[in-house]
Amino acid sequence: MNGPSIDLHTHTTCSDGSLSPLELLELAAERGVDMLSITDHDTLAAYDALTNVPRTGPQLVPGLEISAQWQRRDVHILGLNVDPASTRLRERLQGQQHAREQRAERIARRLARRRLPDTLAGARRHAGDGVIGRPHFAACLVELGVVPDVATAFRKYLGAGKVGDVRTQWPSLHEVTEWIDEAGGVPVLAHPAKYGLTATRLRLLIADFKRHGGTALEVVSGLQQEAQTRVLAKLCADNELLASRGSDFHHRDQRWADLGRGPALPRSVQPVWSRFGDVS
Ligand code: AMP
Ligand code: MN
Ligand code: MN
Ligand code: MN
Repeated sequence: MNGPSIDLHTHTTCSDGSLSPLELLELAAERGVDMLSITDHDTLAAYDALTNVPRTGPQLVPGLEISAQWQRRDVHILGLNVDPASTRLRERLQGQQHAREQRAERIARRLARRRLPDTLAGARRHAGDGVIGRPHFAACLVELGVVPDVATAFRKYLGAGKVGDVRTQWPSLHEVTEWIDEAGGVPVLAHPAKYGLTATRLRLLIADFKRHGGTALEVVSGLQQEAQTRVLAKLCADNELLASRGSDFHHRDQRWADLGRGPALPRSVQPVWSRFGDVS
């Protein structure tokens, strides 16, 4: 028999996802998800949108995905079970959103030098009321016919080392775990296998995360291979971290990041959600 369905990493139109918070909740209910966290990039706006909305469906764990830096690289830290009303955290997030706005302006200037003018307005339009990010530039480049799809936009213009990958002074691991802590939440290192690190550097990142106040590791991120799950479960246990599971759902057409889907956590690790309520 399968255990409860748990998805602690998802996005909405409040950042770079394509469903509204309510649409995401409805889809989660339809899929039989028991516990859900909406973890938009550097914002808690989804929880404002859901305040006073009568609903059934999954238990909702308030969360977010914070951009941080480690050794001059972008890494993502989920804050799970934070107090969405925390004014301290909301102030910090205003700083993050300001950094994203400034980064967007720099991305647009750099694309303009590559004869791709006026992408800022397009990216802003795709972001709408949501927090702006590189996927909104990708959508704009697709719309302009510069690239056939978002994946190509990242490969040619926005991904690591490309013209639109501008360095940003995101806060350190230590700062981000502190922000999450202050808001009563649990810091979780998101999708550790997706930073393109060697095995040695991945080990170092996870050890540093733990040393700087990290609590859990996202052992399952979407539809990953079994071998990957085993490696991450071992790193999780070795560092005495709790384990999380999330799809990183953004859109309905991304099969490898589909809401509620993915392998179960191995028995060798302790689920982080045991702290969030009773979904046994
Ligand atoms: P940003 O938050 O602006 O740094 O952009 C990072 C986001 O871009 C991630 O959260 C993903 O949603 C998306 N992303 C990153 N790499 C790719 C890729 N190769 N193809 C499509 N989307 C990507
Ligand atoms: Mn994203
Ligand atoms: Mn991420
Ligand atoms: Mn994410």
